[in-house]
Amino acid sequence: MYLNSSKKIVIKIGSSLLINDKKIIRKKWLSEFSRDIKQLLDEKKNVIIVSSGAIALGCKKLNLNKKNLKLDKSQAVASIGQIELMNLFKKTFSSKKINLSQILLTLEDTEKRRRAINAKRTFDNLFKLGFVPIVNENDSIATTEIKYGDNDRLASRVAQISGADCLILLSDVDGLYTKNPKISKDAKLIKEIKNIDQEIEKIATKSIGEYGTGGMKTKIDAAKVCQTSGCVMAIANGLSVRPIKKIIDQNICTWFLPKISKLDARKKWIISSISPKGELIVDDGAINALKKGKSLLAAGIKKINGNFYKGDHIKILDINMKEYARGLSSFTSDEISKIKGQHSNKINELLGYISKSEVVHKDDMVEI
Ligand code: GLU
Repeated sequence: MYLNSSKKIVIKIGSSLLINDKKIIRKKWLSEFSRDIKQLLDEKKNVIIVSSGAIALGCKKLNLNKKNLKLDKSQAVASIGQIELMNLFKKTFSSKKINLSQILLTLEDTEKRRRAINAKRTFDNLFKLGFVPIVNENDSIATTEIKYGDNDRLASRVAQISGADCLILLSDVDGLYTKNPKISKDAKLIKEIKNIDQEIEKIATKSIGEYGTGGMKTKIDAAKVCQTSGCVMAIANGLSVRPIKKIIDQNICTWFLPKISKLDARKKWIISSISPKGELIVDDGAINALKKGKSLLAAGIKKINGNFYKGDHIKILDINMKEYARGLSSFTSDEISKIKGQHSNKINELLGYISKSEVVHKDDMVEI
């Protein structure tokens, strides 16, 4: 089963799971859900929760109707509701001794390479510290043009940038059916989808939508992102008690299988920028370290060609100018000029500010 073999899992929960249409918070459900998360953590998996509900909870607090909200007001409402949302999580999850953190993202954070790299590092560090990040869109700041708009697509981007193996979209439907199950008795749940063809798109547009912003269309969009990121994705019903356990035990859901491996997806992402912006020529010691899977440090850098920014795609060459790898630089070319050949513990002093120690992190590098 895909969940069992996944190490890094993103779980998206929609507003309708947290708050019902009578505006009652589903505390019992969240408490059962926290048991699911606890189980995954006990199995040494890294978990990210993408949770909607800021606007719904803000509306509840202010006694407003979500449907009539104008954008500027909804931004204020989200700001009020987000703290309610986190309070709800904190209260519920602390009884299971699960440590939580909050990350609010805007579209640029996943679309701009440099910011995506930063976000990935933050996720990695939170895992190391034993915390479960809860992600939502930064609804108080984002405007229509710069918005994911729904948490299905946000969750797929989070899965992509964090390098997750599996994304579960918990909704109020079991998955994708061949026909609308509310109308057709012979509707069948599609268990696995390898290829999102026209037929699937057609079913998705016609299928019943959930109460939240998304519906099936955004879930299919999310699946497309996952397919090219090496991440399996499931649409599953979250309404039951312990929905994750139910997926593991009964597998009632629709799985979307990736088209490429996670490693290939990462490699593609690293070298997908138009063309390399510069070159770093490094000594034999550095090449040997890279061969052992280490990051590139300043000490081994002999020469820099080109002008580039942080996050730019660069070539790493040996002293005979033979290309060894491609990677994303964690420093600008100007900064590297100041620190090249120096020990990492000198970097902060040389630059005059606190910085990273790897010039190209091992996760941001591919051998050629
Ligand atoms: N980010 C929104 C919220 O927290 C929800 C978006 C969605 O429902 O997909 O209220």
